[in-house]
Amino acid sequence: MIISIDGPAGSGKSTAARKLAAKLGIPYLDTGAMYRAIALAALEAAIRLKDEAALVEIARKADISLDCGPTHTRVTLDGRDVSEAIRSMAVSQATSYVARVQAIRDILVEKQRAIGKRLGALVTEGRDQGSVVFPDADVKFFLDAAIEKRAMRRYQELMADGEEASFELIMENLQERDGNDRKQWAPLLEPQTAIHIDTTDSNIHDVVEKLLEEIRRRGLLP
Ligand code: C5P
Repeated sequence: MIISIDGPAGSGKSTAARKLAAKLGIPYLDTGAMYRAIALAALEAAIRLKDEAALVEIARKADISLDCGPTHTRVTLDGRDVSEAIRSMAVSQATSYVARVQAIRDILVEKQRAIGKRLGALVTEGRDQGSVVFPDADVKFFLDAAIEKRAMRRYQELMADGEEASFELIMENLQERDGNDRKQWAPLLEPQTAIHIDTTDSNIHDVVEKLLEEIRRRGLLP
């Protein structure tokens, strides 16, 4: 069973995907972490983010491995744990440059499909999981929320991690990322068959219950 959850930053999809996977007892795939790891590698290599050929080279060479558990995602880049480093604002911003390069998307899409094939069952989360990567997913969700709410969630996450954060800057960053993501053909393309869930006024418990209800309705749960 493949379940895809797509949506913009701060829509609650990561937490929902993680919790849903734990409830179903199947693995969870955080595809944003892959794009973030490449962005971190690019920042560390100090290449120009507009230099697409250099970015592709980084993506080809990067050895990224993911361990997405019920409470955390552990990401290693060339054997080094970068789980925290990939969540900084600088990496979030740089990731947009990485995500718009089609050759990098091709590399990651292939990796994601290989993971799906190997695992057989998973909850996968990102921007293009139901539309491009797994068009035959058994259930597709699209989570969204008002931008102010999404910015507040990010602000609270960063504060909890002890990062300096300004709500206004996060709003600007989100608007920029939404714009960049929407400009591309693949990310944020809501699949026609996706179940749209607005999480603006819902807590995570209610969101996960809604997801489970939809999966149950399709006869995919005992
Ligand atoms: O979900 P997260 O905020 O970690 O994703 C970081 C960035 O990676 C997104 O803003 C988007 O540009 C990119 N991304 C993507 N396709 C995916 C997952 C993430 O383009 N499947």
